[in-house]
Amino acid sequence: MINKIEKISPSMLVSFEKCKLKFSLDSNISVGRGYSHELNINSFLGSLIHKVLETYYKEIYDLKLFDYKWEASLIEMSKYLRLESEDDVLEYIKYWVPAYYPKKINTLKILTNYKLLAGGIIYPEKKVHYKNVYGIIDLYEISDDKIRITDFKTGILFNTEDGMNIGVKEAYIEQLKTYGYIIYQTTGFQAQNIELVIKGLGNNEIYSFNCTHEEYVEHGIKIDNLINETNTLIDLGNTNLLATPKADICDFCNHQFKCPALHFSVRNQLEKWEKIVLLEKINTSFDFKELSINIIVNDKTVSIHNIPEKDFVMIKKRNELGKEVLITQLFQVHNSNVKKWSKLTKYIVV
Ligand code: SF4
Repeated sequence: MINKIEKISPSMLVSFEKCKLKFSLDSNISVGRGYSHELNINSFLGSLIHKVLETYYKEIYDLKLFDYKWEASLIEMSKYLRLESEDDVLEYIKYWVPAYYPKKINTLKILTNYKLLAGGIIYPEKKVHYKNVYGIIDLYEISDDKIRITDFKTGILFNTEDGMNIGVKEAYIEQLKTYGYIIYQTTGFQAQNIELVIKGLGNNEIYSFNCTHEEYVEHGIKIDNLINETNTLIDLGNTNLLATPKADICDFCNHQFKCPALHFSVRNQLEKWEKIVLLEKINTSFDFKELSINIIVNDKTVSIHNIPEKDFVMIKKRNELGKEVLITQLFQVHNSNVKKWSKLTKYIVV
């Protein structure tokens, strides 16, 4: 039984729109999760940078102290990780987290160069809430006639195609618009006096915009509708209808193995799925030279290469018992019907 959705955070909105089932299942899992978690070196660096920014905007200290403050934040953040040996892991982070030093230097550059709102009061990591939306704004500044909301991003802000900038990532815009919506509804400031800023930490990227009253009203209706539609289907027990399988979200979803909607789509629309296969039958024996199997799905042949023998034997046995096996995280060879087994490939009977 899935619990109903009561509120969402701005960063969740785009993934919620992409697949309501994934969002609902993720929300249910996160209920009761503790603060301690496994070391994820990529997200750890993002959290560390946010901690450093928060400390600076709270204290506005002399930036000659930056190295010392950075190190103090690193030690503090590491307490939330389950570390085997604290010293070793801290050294590991410094040398092996991608772009640790460039990102540290860029953080200092942001603190040196980012101009604060003239005459404004600063609130770093400000908790905000309105009706069914809640979140934490990285940097909230308010003066007599203006509010500025800044969200710091460690990733690249813009999407590119053929070397051309084709716009800021939709998820970032939606997230900022949602913060703007909360502030618009709770402060009484006019929409045009709320500035929304996305600031990239990796380079000098910055994107600033405002929304209109109408855009905020429409945004609120969209959020209400998303939550209401989801809860109606949960109430009716029709959770399968919440699923909208698409490769760009399913490929990275933790619920692949227990999602009948995904299995149905992979079974019937093979061509849409590059990384996932549903195997019903292997009508060949293991080939030590090729390390490959050819399978026929819906009259189309798919080859899987580099499959380890023990996995081949295991899958074949399950197929012979009349069971379908879902295989994920395959690597599609460009312009071919060949998929390669990868270190990340997983499989399970569905
Ligand atoms: S596997 Fe795809 S369709 Fe199923 S819950 Fe995950 S994202 Fe949604």
